[in-house]
Amino acid sequence: MIALIMTENKKLADLLFPALDKTVEYYENLYPERSLPDGAIVTRFAPSPTGFLHIGGLFAALIGQRAAMRTGGVFYLRIEDTDKKREIQNGIAEIIKGLCSFGMTIDEGMISETESVGGYGPYVQSERKEIYQTYAKALVEKGLAYPCFCSEDELAKIRREQEEQKITPGYYGEFAKHRNITYEQAKAEIEAGKPFVLRLKSGGSLDAKVVFEDLIKGRIEMPENNQDIVILKTDGIPTYHFAHAVDDHLMRSTHIIRGDEWLSSAPIHLQLFDVLGFERPKYAHISPIMKEENGGKRKLSKRKDPEAAVTYYHEEGYPKEAVVEYLLTLANSNYEEWRIANPAVPNTEFPFSLSKMSQSGALFDLVKLTDISKNYISLLTKDEVYASVLEWAKQYNEKLASLLEKDEAYAKAIFAIERSPEKPRKDITKWSDAENYIAYFYDELWDEKRDFAENLSKDDMIEILEEYKKIYDDSDPQDQWFSKIRQMSEDLGYAGMPKLYRKNPENYKGHVGDVSGVIRVSVTGRRNTPDLYEILHVLGKERVMNRINDSIRLLKEEN
Ligand code: GLU
Repeated sequence: MIALIMTENKKLADLLFPALDKTVEYYENLYPERSLPDGAIVTRFAPSPTGFLHIGGLFAALIGQRAAMRTGGVFYLRIEDTDKKREIQNGIAEIIKGLCSFGMTIDEGMISETESVGGYGPYVQSERKEIYQTYAKALVEKGLAYPCFCSEDELAKIRREQEEQKITPGYYGEFAKHRNITYEQAKAEIEAGKPFVLRLKSGGSLDAKVVFEDLIKGRIEMPENNQDIVILKTDGIPTYHFAHAVDDHLMRSTHIIRGDEWLSSAPIHLQLFDVLGFERPKYAHISPIMKEENGGKRKLSKRKDPEAAVTYYHEEGYPKEAVVEYLLTLANSNYEEWRIANPAVPNTEFPFSLSKMSQSGALFDLVKLTDISKNYISLLTKDEVYASVLEWAKQYNEKLASLLEKDEAYAKAIFAIERSPEKPRKDITKWSDAENYIAYFYDELWDEKRDFAENLSKDDMIEILEEYKKIYDDSDPQDQWFSKIRQMSEDLGYAGMPKLYRKNPENYKGHVGDVSGVIRVSVTGRRNTPDLYEILHVLGKERVMNRINDSIRLLKEEN
């Protein structure tokens, strides 16, 4: 009897998959166990080729990459294109570009739209059709999967019946019409040209529990899967569930690090690993990145939030190191402490740990990112800032790029202002801030608007500028430059020190700070700038004089 059933299953399998010429054993030998150090994590990032990389995707990829790197393992990129509707042209290349622009290194898998590296490929699911079918066929031979010829209408009818009876919907048990289909019946359906999906003959029961230890969420207990889920669609392409099991087994993944929207499917996945005779991988389900809104929390949305797209950070010019650093603070709460203790160590040295991941969704905080970013930029050298701003500007701000390239020494002198290692300024938070930051150094960028304070009259300001022209000597060292301004202030009736003014304001027109403020605004347009002495030096005598003369003229015109 058993032998009879076996031949029947074998016949059914050959009927469904007549053209396959490889066996399961063939693939098992083709993709052997990897020889890696004990405890090495082999994991992957497995996006669909939609071209869109969500910050949550980058987060997941970073976690996978760090987990693999810390253990001497492998981090690979697999493209999950079983849903053709989601695909766009160059979708793979765009995702790779997104990963690379944040310094993500991929050990194996896809490296461009069409090329891959590594011995466990193909790394694009649509090129693995025969592999999935070979494993699916083996399940049919064992009586663990079967073809289902139900039409949409028939499935809808089953669902309606279940709704009326108020029982769990789906294709299972007595509702699974083709569960026990015979070879002859299947043959007749196929000859009639009916399409079929392949379903798993589930042995699971809702009364029994699947238990596993999620590396992030801890012990998980869920009812077993009792549904005869689809494993191959009518076009012979696998569902996510089946492709996940086959691919992660054959690519020898040890860890599945993925978004927790998949947690509810874990019973199906574990069941498939068991049924296929594969060793179960370890799972780590990441909580999504959340956003605060109206006192509540919601997932960062591709549709509503520009910051959900990784390209946003690139366009805004957040340094990749700052973004990665920020994501690491979301990943492991001890990261910041580590960073304070190791200010100069590359973040790749951080002992990242999956078990320290937060169980609930991390809250996205642009202010925190900005803070990390400006700290990071403040520690760079002028040459590094110059190179990064230029690289960003070449892509997003051509005018700025050409100005920076026209006179490299001048641009670097600007970025050198107050870039002292002890107490660097933190004016630039991202490369797109650079234009505004340096605008008044370039006649081509400066709008020439002068934001003079309102506490002095125009005549007083004109007088200050006229006097300053007489004493200004760009070879003066800083202390002398300032004593001259102080002297000039006193001569014109201003207090040489702010505190003198504060004691007896009635005795003065203002104080030395007001006087240098007039000079500052007349050459930069702004009331707040980095060190004025350094600015005057970088601008150079000619520009300084021109701007002071223009200011005098403008003030006179307004008078
Ligand atoms: N292609 C799946 C997704 O984009 C991958 C999930 C996984 O990592 O297994 O959600």
